Amino acid sequence: MSRIATFALFLLLAFPLFQVQSSSPASQSSSLAAESTLSKDLVYANRILYDQGVLDAFGHVSVRDEKNPAHFFLSRSIAPGLVTTRDILEYDREGSPVDAQGRAVYIERFIHAAIYRARPDVKAIVHSHSPSLIAFSVTGTSLRPVYHLSSFLGAGTPIFDIRNAGGMTDMLIRDNHLGDALAKVLADKPVALMRGHGSVVVGSSIQQAVYRIIYTDVNARLQMDAARLGTITFLSPEEAAKAAANLEVQVPRAWELWKSRIGKID
Ligand SMILES: [Zn+2]
Repeated sequence: MSRIATFALFLLLAFPLFQVQSSSPASQSSSLAAESTLSKDLVYANRILYDQGVLDAFGHVSVRDEKNPAHFFLSRSIAPGLVTTRDILEYDREGSPVDAQGRAVYIERFIHAAIYRARPDVKAIVHSHSPSLIAFSVTGTSLRPVYHLSSFLGAGTPIFDIRNAGGMTDMLIRDNHLGDALAKVLADKPVALMRGHGSVVVGSSIQQAVYRIIYTDVNARLQMDAARLGTITFLSPEEAAKAAANLEVQVPRAWELWKSRIGKID
């Protein structure tokens, strides 16, 4: 065998080995880093939503597992303002905790499980009881975009009435049947109101879901203020679509500001 042929054979045999040995630890550490970032961002999301007055002692926020998209992460049952990385639990596609170790879990975890099952595009979900949204949920008055920062509402804000899916309930999404019914009403929208209860808001990232619930809440208050003053000129569907297309680049700026108020997390 010539020297060149021997060298070529060496390359053929050695290169795949070299690739495996060099890429495996790197990809492992980057995936661990990604999981850790996701977990921290989820804690920040909880704290931010409490700090911004969108969540109080109740409500929750989740994120889809990047490594296993059938699963998601959500805190144990605790007030959002108190969540730490140690409180984050993994849940399966049915909403059962994978390893809760006896810790209490949110009753309404089925909201998250059902929407992740129905919406592969959704990476994060916020469920809130924000007071500003309740009035819209019980009157049927459409929540519509008043200004550009909430233009994503132009996609529509359907109202889920639990009575249609479960009859006379305690208003909570206690199982997958009710979760599926809610996901069906949400359909492909970013926001759905829940009659006499609250809302669900979804996003393609934690940051987008947080942005959307904060500005859904702001829009609700603005719409009520404007309605008292006179007839509202809402964003037209065309204006809303154009403005919403530009919102994505604004999300990181808002996230960094909200995050700066939280300080260090543990
Ligand atoms: Zn609730």
